[in-house]
Amino acid sequence: MRVLIRGAGVAGLTLAHELASSSINVVVTEKANRAGGGASWFAGGMLAPWCERENAPGAVLQLGQTAADWWDAVLPGHVKRKGTLVVAPPRDTADLVRFASRTSGFDWLKAEEIDALEPSLAGRFGKALYFAHEAHLDPRRAINALHEKLVGMGVCFRFDAPDFPEKGFDRVIDCTGARAIGNDPRLRGVRGEMLVLETLDVQFSRPVRLLHPRIPLYIVPRTNNRFMVGATMIESDDSGPVSARSLMELLNAAYALHPAFGEARVIETGSGVRPAYPDNLPAFSEQDGMLRVNGFYRHGFLLAPAIARMAAERLLSSRAGKSEGHTTFAPPVHRQPDSSYIGASQ
Ligand SMILES: Cc1cc2nc3c(=O)[nH]c(=O)nc-3n(C[C@H](O)[C@H](O)[C@H](O)COP(=O)(O)OP(=O)(O)OC[C@H]3O[C@@H](n4cnc5c(N)ncnc54)[C@H](O)[C@@H]3O)c2cc1C
Repeated sequence: MRVLIRGAGVAGLTLAHELASSSINVVVTEKANRAGGGASWFAGGMLAPWCERENAPGAVLQLGQTAADWWDAVLPGHVKRKGTLVVAPPRDTADLVRFASRTSGFDWLKAEEIDALEPSLAGRFGKALYFAHEAHLDPRRAINALHEKLVGMGVCFRFDAPDFPEKGFDRVIDCTGARAIGNDPRLRGVRGEMLVLETLDVQFSRPVRLLHPRIPLYIVPRTNNRFMVGATMIESDDSGPVSARSLMELLNAAYALHPAFGEARVIETGSGVRPAYPDNLPAFSEQDGMLRVNGFYRHGFLLAPAIARMAAERLLSSRAGKSEGHTTFAPPVHRQPDSSYIGASQ
């Protein structure tokens, strides 16, 4: 079986990995001149299914719990299992209580426990939630490493190739993220703006989330004293430069978390468009023989491993002659019955 995957974002690369691991002949084409030409490049890299459950369906927790193990097994050394710390300014403690009421898998920390975990925050917060089982990675390093690994596994890449011909392939899988908006009427874009700050005055070992009334901020530590600061959530498929307002709000929130961020250098500003379906859950859909894997919304790094595994199983079972596009495959992701979605009764 020869499979063409369009799109070398996290969706396309994880799927390529699952297929190549089963000895499928895979070609990945990418519009940009490198892997990660879309939203994946701007992600925080949080593998945080318990925190995300605050405003995500249970499937995100269910499917996302295996993500850290998948990344660890595929790219050893990339995953940092340090948990997530969630704090709120003293006047917004009610937000912390509300966050706790909508999530699970955390411990309440007192001031001295926060200080022990993240000494840079010493004396700043009286209470926090600590999600010990969560993890994070650097998305750009992970994308580059996965690309390299796939090349070593025999996967063929074609960059600068938005219109690569389909001739000669048994299956074509579209993993083009927000670029598929317009071709897939259910898909919409959710713009996410981010910054990279650099400072020697703050050290974090893990993602820190600040429950802020306007922008729920998170800061993910990178190497070289850098921090990814994210992210806005704007219903738009505009991937243009960060707006002045978003820049101000993200910086204000970072400053509220720690005033030393006020002196940090702004290394980068950027934005990506998160591809999302109405229920904000990823999906497989099949139309005219083309499989589409899309809709990862805020959860590409978190959910792509599980979805890639399921999509690969689906393809492999269709190769083995099982019924295609019918009830043999039942993704745990909840969907309304719809004939265009694999797993629905047709
Ligand atoms: C600011 C921000 C922070 C985020 N933080 C997190 C996080 O902490 N954790 C998490 O799990 N998720 C996070 N996400 C979400 C995550 O980034 C997305 O869910 C994920 O990147 C979607 O991956 P994708 O591969 O579907 O799309 P993309 O990454 O957009 O990849 C699609 C690829 O297809 C290529 N392409 C387009 N057209 C064509 C064509 N015709 N032919 C070939 N290639 C084509 C594009 O160039 C691109 O490389 C974040 C997103 C943003 C914007």
